[in-house]
Amino acid sequence: MTEIAKCIGCGATLQSEHPNEAGYVPKSSLNKEDVICKRCFRLKNYNEVQDVDLTSDDFLNMLKSLHNEDGLIVNVVDVFDLEGSMIHRLKDIVGKKKVILVANKMDILPKAINKKRVEIWLRQRAKDYGLNPDKVVLISAAKNQGIDELLGTIEEIRDRKDVFVVGTTNVGKSTLINRLIEKSVGEKDVITTSHFPGTTLDMIDIPLDDDSYMFDTPGIIQSHQMTHYVTDKELKVIMPKKEIKPKVYQLNEEQSLFLGGLVRVDYKKGGRRSLTCFISNDLNIHRTKLENADDLWERQIGELLKPPYSKENFDFNNLKNNVIFVKDERRDIMISGLGFITVDEGAEINVIAPKEVEVTSRKSIL
Ligand code: GDP
Repeated sequence: MTEIAKCIGCGATLQSEHPNEAGYVPKSSLNKEDVICKRCFRLKNYNEVQDVDLTSDDFLNMLKSLHNEDGLIVNVVDVFDLEGSMIHRLKDIVGKKKVILVANKMDILPKAINKKRVEIWLRQRAKDYGLNPDKVVLISAAKNQGIDELLGTIEEIRDRKDVFVVGTTNVGKSTLINRLIEKSVGEKDVITTSHFPGTTLDMIDIPLDDDSYMFDTPGIIQSHQMTHYVTDKELKVIMPKKEIKPKVYQLNEEQSLFLGGLVRVDYKKGGRRSLTCFISNDLNIHRTKLENADDLWERQIGELLKPPYSKENFDFNNLKNNVIFVKDERRDIMISGLGFITVDEGAEINVIAPKEVEVTSRKSIL
């Protein structure tokens, strides 16, 4: 019987098939002795944390083991894809623990938005998921904004207990953890991994004081994140990297906007008005008459209407109508992973999007 090889750093079973999962090493290293996985290698040599994607079973085990721990939960979400980045079972692990909700990627939102309204909306959505955060902190990990405030808030709330940083993949958790490591331990090599009860995976811990740690937990993939339905190349186009420049369209009733070829927005009723689109600056918007929209979509998908970059990447049988009535206040129609469209009161709009992509609306943050 061959022995199962494990990483000497974290104990994860070694494998060379899935670079983003635990225990990854190049094939050539698999049969060597004293092998250390890619994640531990980066951690040891560069003090750099790499996110590990978990299957849902591993993730549920991790949640169960966290449930019994005492400490503070720091839940990182992507302010641009909140629906995609909320962890649905988080309330199960929270118990009596305190929670800080950290909204990352604030640098993408136009400066004109009202931060207070962003916070109110975040609190409301958290409540819908059964959470009542003790604090909401708005940051940009990439731009190093709000990190000191976050560290201060963590110190203030954690009551000398351990801290567990949780988040879905792509919210910027690794970028944030690397910032926190820079600030809290600097150049010192004091990051370790420790075995966490009930999981196959060990967590990275950053010492906070003599007897407490901050733990980086692995990110879970959410099936309804738009990011899992597009290729890497398409993702580069739809994921905004810089502050969004809103695009305003004056529309008559019965006109449609295509967001690339991924989503179609039909403006049905409400007189002539403007729709303001907050999506990646690199994603093309195409306007047409509603009566031509079906035909144009089928003919031009992957050509004029892209991304997707190929017809084969798009399934017309997997679309859903999301009819939204904007009644008596200005609202933002949110298309998970793509962005939002601000509409004044008195409009009927149908957003046609792949079934898995959530379309919701909120009181406008403008
Ligand atoms: P993780 O999967 O949660 O660990 O996320 P990563 O840290 O790997 O980041 C995912 C993507 O989001 C990367 O392309 C990052 O460059 C980007 N990102 C992370 N933080 C920010 C931020 O504050 N602003 C912006 N605009 N992008 C960010």
